[in-house]
Amino acid sequence: MSASYDGIILGTGHNAQVLHAYLARSGLRVLSLDRATVPGGGLATEENQRRPGFRHNTHSFFHRAVTAMPWYRDLELHRHGARYVEPELNVALILPDGRSLQFWTDLDKTVASVAEFSAKDAATLRRWVDEFRPIVAQVMAPEAQSPPLPPDRRREILGRSALGRRLLVAAERSPIEFVTEEFENDVIRAGLLFFSGLREIDLRLKGFGHAIPAILAGPHKAQMCLGGSARLAQALVKDIEEHSGRIRCGVPLRAILTRNGKAVGVELSDGERVEAAGFVASGLNPQQTFLEMLDADAVSPTTRERAADFRYNLLAPLFALNVALREPPRYRAAEQRPELNQAFMVILGLERPEQFHAIVAAHERGQIPPTVMWGTCPTLFDASQAPPGGHTAFMWEKLPYALSGDSGRWDATQDAHGRDMLELWTRFAPNMEGAVLDRFTRSPLDTERALPNMRYGDLLVGSFANDQIGYHRPFPGAGCYRTPVSGLYLCGGSTHPGGNITGLCGYNAAAVVVADLGVRAWWDPPQVEDAWTRIGGGTSAVP
Ligand SMILES: Cc1cc2nc3c(=O)[nH]c(=O)nc-3n(C[C@H](O)[C@H](O)[C@H](O)COP(=O)(O)OP(=O)(O)OC[C@H]3O[C@@H](n4cnc5c(N)ncnc54)[C@H](O)[C@@H]3O)c2cc1C
Repeated sequence: MSASYDGIILGTGHNAQVLHAYLARSGLRVLSLDRATVPGGGLATEENQRRPGFRHNTHSFFHRAVTAMPWYRDLELHRHGARYVEPELNVALILPDGRSLQFWTDLDKTVASVAEFSAKDAATLRRWVDEFRPIVAQVMAPEAQSPPLPPDRRREILGRSALGRRLLVAAERSPIEFVTEEFENDVIRAGLLFFSGLREIDLRLKGFGHAIPAILAGPHKAQMCLGGSARLAQALVKDIEEHSGRIRCGVPLRAILTRNGKAVGVELSDGERVEAAGFVASGLNPQQTFLEMLDADAVSPTTRERAADFRYNLLAPLFALNVALREPPRYRAAEQRPELNQAFMVILGLERPEQFHAIVAAHERGQIPPTVMWGTCPTLFDASQAPPGGHTAFMWEKLPYALSGDSGRWDATQDAHGRDMLELWTRFAPNMEGAVLDRFTRSPLDTERALPNMRYGDLLVGSFANDQIGYHRPFPGAGCYRTPVSGLYLCGGSTHPGGNITGLCGYNAAAVVVADLGVRAWWDPPQVEDAWTRIGGGTSAVP
């Protein structure tokens, strides 16, 4: 063994970083290890090698409500240089005929935009937002920010309050049933389904009927990190290092070491061994953690089977077209509605809810569906991401991981598909014809190559199918961050509450690790059960 720490964390994704920062502030000596050359995982901002000064966010970009997360405050990330903006025209769905559906940070403006399509839908949307605001604040937020409860206990406690019961009832439907039964206009229906699809919940899945009203009622919308997404990772590194945490990147890992059934360290690919006296935490996926990193005899056959069966989202993989521009996109529709040129997230190619069925069917066949894409021009909000006068922009599309059953086909196909996306973009923003200085694409296979924990390009690191959520995420026996191996914990997107930039997997894991080590938490880790017993009355206004 080359060195000894209280704990070792595998990976430096933001969840692993959040866990590391809390433990370092607890006085524990912790080391993080990553195969990548820089920390941050999905928080990546890369300089364009052909066009110096143009900086592209190659993984996550839209960070929902990050500034409202408890760890953002506790870890003083503002002091460490993180800065966020939440643009007012947060999302705009632009139609080929020039109309647009607009979602603003100001609910009244959103309702006014919906009313241009249907007055009835505008009233329905407002009613759902009013109804869900207390549910999000008092029921859903505490649940996401705590280790989850066993399903029966969860249902029992939720059943005690009006708000809890309302959530249980709203959840019974699928997102598709929710929009079809509650809204009448096809553009509104498609726009709302997009929000849910964007968060990669299977729109057909019962149990997620609450997802869309919860997103609409959330107090914060999509935000962006000034300086690029990597700036958040850099702020987390500052906090870790300020509290004597150690991070080593560019080190491929071979194995998690166990002794007498307990995780005791890690072996690197060059044979170096690092000892952990207290714990090992993995920010990797269940297959990597239990099948690749642990000897077969270190875990039971049941655990190996469950890890092998952990499933990934069919619809999660993204294809990205990134461009360096001499001017920002100017949308034809902005001639009538100038605000559209300042929209944050722009959706193109979407008009009807049925398009989702075509997208799902194409994913199942491994084919490219007619393009629905969304993206932004970050430099409209942060000039630092390009040289003076220049701009960057990107569009994302959900595309299958394997084309006709073979992910390797992407390498020969992606450039042509990027051209097709650019053509569609140009139909909506004609100035794109002459604005592009450089472009490159990233396929779902490229995602997996960069971040192998995102198996099959699943950027949420595991599906949200009913048996892989909450207490049983990633699988029964390994939920709640503890695993069947003593001293081994999970802390990445494959745990509750799941993928995306929420940091809550790492935040919740920190409370579990310090409790098991008998270390007093310096922060106040919320307990969902306590929060739910304090829930106020609330009424059920929505029919
Ligand atoms: C193209 C794209 C766009 C996205 N857009 C958004 C968005 O707009 N908003 C949003 O909220 N989320 C977005 N996401 C999803 C988000 O990035 C992830 O859900 C999130 O990063 C998962 O965080 P994590 O902490 O689990 O680990 P990750 O960020 O996945 O990091 C895992 C770390 O583990 C390391 N690792 C993997 N395998 C090994 C190994 N064998 N040995 C050592 N280290 C290893 C990796 O190098 C990486 O540093 C996007 C993702 C992609 C790919």
